[in-house]
Amino acid sequence: MEIGFIGLGNMGGPMSRRLVEAGHRVTVFDVRKDAVDKLVKLGATAANSPADVASRVETVMTSLPSLDIGLKVVDGEDGITRGNRIKRYIDLSTTGSRAAQKTAGIMEKRGIVQIDCPVSGGVAGAEKGTLAVMTSGPKDEVELVRPALEVFGKVFYCGDKPGMAQSMKLANNFLSATGMAASSEAIAMGVKAGLDPSLMCDVINAGSGMNTATTQKFPRSVLPGTFDYGFGMALMVKDVRLFLQEAEDYGIPLEVAAAVGRLWEKAMAEHGPNSDFTELAKTVEKGAGVQMRAKK
Ligand code: NAD
Repeated sequence: MEIGFIGLGNMGGPMSRRLVEAGHRVTVFDVRKDAVDKLVKLGATAANSPADVASRVETVMTSLPSLDIGLKVVDGEDGITRGNRIKRYIDLSTTGSRAAQKTAGIMEKRGIVQIDCPVSGGVAGAEKGTLAVMTSGPKDEVELVRPALEVFGKVFYCGDKPGMAQSMKLANNFLSATGMAASSEAIAMGVKAGLDPSLMCDVINAGSGMNTATTQKFPRSVLPGTFDYGFGMALMVKDVRLFLQEAEDYGIPLEVAAAVGRLWEKAMAEHGPNSDFTELAKTVEKGAGVQMRAKK
C-alpha cells in the first residue's frame, strides 16, 4: 500500500520502519529532520508538511505526542485536511474519545474516513511488531487497511463509533499506570523490610501480583537504575488525565484512579515532563527513604 506516516518518534519511528520493511511505499513527515533522514535511508520518501503527505497518498497515519499537536497536524494551516489525495486518516496516538470524536467530525466534513487506532505494548512492541492494535471506525475501511496494521501487531476491532478504540486504550493504560504506581509502593515497602527488590520481582512474577511493572518496567529500567523505558512522563500523565476525564464523563466513581492520578502528577512535578515514566519509582523511593536497585 501507499502510506503516509507523520510523527516518527519512539513509536512512529519503529512502526514506519516496519511498514517500509514489509514492502509498503511510505511517505514520512516529522518536524525533526534527523528522524525523517533515518527513514529516508531505509527507503521512505520525505514530504514537506502534513498537507504534502496528504496530497501524495490516500492513507495517512499519525503518531503524535499531544492533543494540541494532533489537532494542528489535522486541521492547521499545513494540516492533512489541506491535502488533496487523502481518503482515510488513521490515528495511532492516544487521544481519548472526546478528541477522536472532534477530529472525526472535521474529517467527515472533508469526506475523509477516520480510523482510531491507538496501540499498546511500548517501544519494544513497536520494534518487534507485537503491539495490541485497537481500531474503531467503519468496519470495511478497517478491513481494507488490516494488512498494514498487522505489521504493527495483533489487530482488534472495537466498534464503529468514533473514539471506541480510544476508550479501550485508556482503560488499558490506566491499568498500566496503576500497576507501575502500586508495584513501586509494594516493592518500596519490601525493601524497607530488608528484602532484595530483584528477588521481590522474581517472587511476584511467579505469584499472583505479577503485572507489566514487575515483569518489564522494574527489571529493565528501575532495578538497573537506567530509567530509559522509552515512554515519556508527560505521555503517561496525559493518558491518566484522559482516563479520569472519560470516566467522569460517564459518571463512574473513581477511588483508585484518583489516588493513582495524584501520584503521577507528583512524579511529573518532581521529574519534569520529559523524564521517562519509570521515574515515578524515584518519587516513591524519596517518600519511603529507600532505593529499589538491583545488587551489582
Ligand atoms: P514521541 O514524543 O517519541 O514522538 C512524537 C513525534 O512527533 C516526534 O518525533 C516529534 O518530533 C513529532 N512531532 C511533534 N510535533 C509534530 C508536528 N507538528 N508535525 C509532525 N511531527 C511532529 O512520542 P511517542 O512515545 O512516539 O508517542 C506517540 C503517541 O503514541 C502518543 O500519543 C503516545 O501516548 C502513544 N503511545 C506511546 C507509547 C510509548 O511507549 N512510547 C506506547 C503506546 C502509545
